[in-house]
Amino acid sequence: MSFIKTKGFVIQSIAYRDSNRLLKILTPEHGLITCSAQGAKSKKSTLRIASSPFVFAEYELFYYRERYRVQAANVIDAFLPLMEDIKRLTCISHLAELVLDVLRDNSKGKTSYPFWAYASYKITTDQDPVLVTNLAQLKYLSEQGFAPWIDNCLICGKDFSEEGARFYFAKYGAICEQDSCRKNIGSSVILDLSLGSLAALMYLIHNPYEKCFNMHLSEKIRREIINFSERYLTYVMEKDYQKLDMIKSLENFERGNI
Ligand SMILES: [Zn+2]
Repeated sequence: MSFIKTKGFVIQSIAYRDSNRLLKILTPEHGLITCSAQGAKSKKSTLRIASSPFVFAEYELFYYRERYRVQAANVIDAFLPLMEDIKRLTCISHLAELVLDVLRDNSKGKTSYPFWAYASYKITTDQDPVLVTNLAQLKYLSEQGFAPWIDNCLICGKDFSEEGARFYFAKYGAICEQDSCRKNIGSSVILDLSLGSLAALMYLIHNPYEKCFNMHLSEKIRREIINFSERYLTYVMEKDYQKLDMIKSLENFERGNI
């Protein structure tokens, strides 16, 4: 039995029984923890805002028999702009689903807390939350050990020419245009990447959070990166993320109305 004080982000909040909530909170020291917030759904509860999805707060937790219970909380940032913007909300909900999937088997998954802090802030504030979400999921997968190999040709090791590269999903890597390299691969799901997209991906993978999400891309490269990111995620996680389709529909809808 113990008391713990920790900062954390609510990654998921599920209602259960009469007025309670079950929270998944991402914390710096304890990784992802599951906590009950009793009475949090009630209008009078002081835990009402602190148990809402994506809120950042300082929590006082009671720990007993491998269970956490929220005793008190101080909201630091309620991320209110998210709740008024369906596109941003869908983006962050999608990213939360990915983080929960990755942390299911390893709740302490490295770097998840600082990653979420930067990514959720950028999705809330950046003018292009769809691009940020696609960059963020690639960055997260890379840090969890699934970085795509795009630094040079997977087969011959040479730098890519102006022709760009062809990404082979089955090999998690990119290959140059030489026939001798391409014939090694056989049939596989592929995607061609321009030199500009390769440079943007390298910048993303090799830079810290405070720099890597700040990119100004041409429309063509933005499209290529989003397309690559969506397909790479599906390939690595072996799962279709349905909120990605929603994000695409929302974006198409907006563009159709300009
Ligand atoms: Zn090669």
